[in-house]
Amino acid sequence: MPPVFRFAPSPNGYLHLGHAYSALLNFQRAQETGGRFLLRIEDIDPTRCRPDYEQAIYEDLAWLGIVWEQPVRRQSQHIAEYGAALERLQGMGLVYPSFESRAEIARLVARREADGGWPRDPDGAPLYPGAAKAMSATRRAELMSSGVPYALRLDMAAAVARAGRLSWDEAGSGPEGETGAVEASPAAWGDVILARKETPTSYHLSVVVDDALQGVSEVVRGQDLFHATGVHRLLQALLGLPAPAYRHHRLIRDEHGHKLSKSTRATGLRTLRAEGVSPAEIRHRIGLV
Ligand code: GLU
Repeated sequence: MPPVFRFAPSPNGYLHLGHAYSALLNFQRAQETGGRFLLRIEDIDPTRCRPDYEQAIYEDLAWLGIVWEQPVRRQSQHIAEYGAALERLQGMGLVYPSFESRAEIARLVARREADGGWPRDPDGAPLYPGAAKAMSATRRAELMSSGVPYALRLDMAAAVARAGRLSWDEAGSGPEGETGAVEASPAAWGDVILARKETPTSYHLSVVVDDALQGVSEVVRGQDLFHATGVHRLLQALLGLPAPAYRHHRLIRDEHGHKLSKSTRATGLRTLRAEGVSPAEIRHRIGLV
């Protein structure tokens, strides 16, 4: 079977040089290996994703000379499939609802930090500090039917105990040069959110379901997602899904060394194109020849 690669942007802004690098690397790997190249639109968040950004993704990638298979998988059309995976995890007793607002969570974290410190995840966000896991079934049911918003979280301790030690095959490298067989450390993320009342899935859950469903054999993506791979390996193990190989690549940075942002116009592909920059110049700028 030919290897399968994918580029999976979220249509919540215009693509920038970093996306061009990731998309071109995937496309090149597919061409070099006689593999397939898929484009996947990760549009599960209706508050941030817009049809015009999705259209811009198609235009910008085509302008770069990238060709992808049709039909494109759009995650918003597959929410029920992610729901089925969530139900399986719920059936294993690994999911619980939490009801705190963002403000309440911030207050709890501040209190714990003042009391001697509170851990943060690899992206720098504090771990979930609440006590919802211990809530009684009656109280849970009451709150859920009262209409208040909630998040469905993975009981990380129970999930890790069930799955045991996990690793992945890293063909690229992590931020600290990690490569080869990398041990997964999902516990560093705490009780991650798998779904919300208003968005019944999450990045972690849908990416794992889709990579398996689409037969992706090598995930080529930025180093900013390196540590999230631990959570992805855990979900794959729990759901009985195959583990692709991973190739995390360096991030393209601006002249100040900062990660690029979708809101900075200067490094946006649309802006560069409007300024008359050619696709060949884009490749040169990101170190691809
Ligand atoms: N949709 C994610 C993003 O735009 C990328 C997902 C992935 O490559 O795993 O950052």
